[in-house]
Amino acid sequence: YGDASQKIDYVFKVVLIGDSAVGKSQILSRFARNEFSLDSKATIGVEFQTRTLVIQHKSVKAQIWDTAGQERRTELSTATNLSLLMIVNRYRAVTSAYYRGAMGAMLVYDITKRQTFDHIPRWLEELRAHADKNIVIILIGNKTDLEDQRAVPTEDAKEFAQKEELFFLETSALGATNVEEAFMTVLSEIFNIVN
Ligand code: GDP
Ligand code: MG
Repeated sequence: YGDASQKIDYVFKVVLIGDSAVGKSQILSRFARNEFSLDSKATIGVEFQTRTLVIQHKSVKAQIWDTAGQERRTELSTATNLSLLMIVNRYRAVTSAYYRGAMGAMLVYDITKRQTFDHIPRWLEELRAHADKNIVIILIGNKTDLEDQRAVPTEDAKEFAQKEELFFLETSALGATNVEEAFMTVLSEIFNIVN
């Protein structure tokens, strides 16, 4: 987990986005505290968590933002409502504050819920409308521990990621699979860009 007592060379802001219940908060919790809770409701009040790590002998503080304040919109998770709320959100200060200064984005869907993958282009659109154009983006298919319930073939996501020039990994926050790798992919790429 690196040495938090040393001086910080860089702070990288990374945002988590995607439909409700895909596992964003658990992915963050796994990365920041190496914890997972099966019954996770309360992200409320916490806007971001940090973890300091070392990349190429430099101390990097990763500041990971979770969508605690924006969860309400996806509770009405029909496609239509989601679209409408995204349009409304586009004019809300909260959306731009969330994306402001973000150098990385993790676009998360649930491999067992096809709809959460089908919504990815919309999240990408919102991201591209609000974030810096050089933002590093990784597409994440979470919940690989539920392989028997898989509804999104790995190939579909890989193909989409290639077309959109996104990094791509499948993770399990529950099984602690690839979570570290996903963050390291984004943080290393940001590191390379700023150096
Ligand atoms: P968020 O709304 O995107 O922040 O999703 P949460 O992190 O709150 O997770 C939603 C639900 O999915 C919770 O019940 C989690 O315990 C569960 N969950 C999250 N990640 C995983 C995972 O990797 N595997 C499994 N099986 N469940 C997960
Ligand atoms: Mg959450």
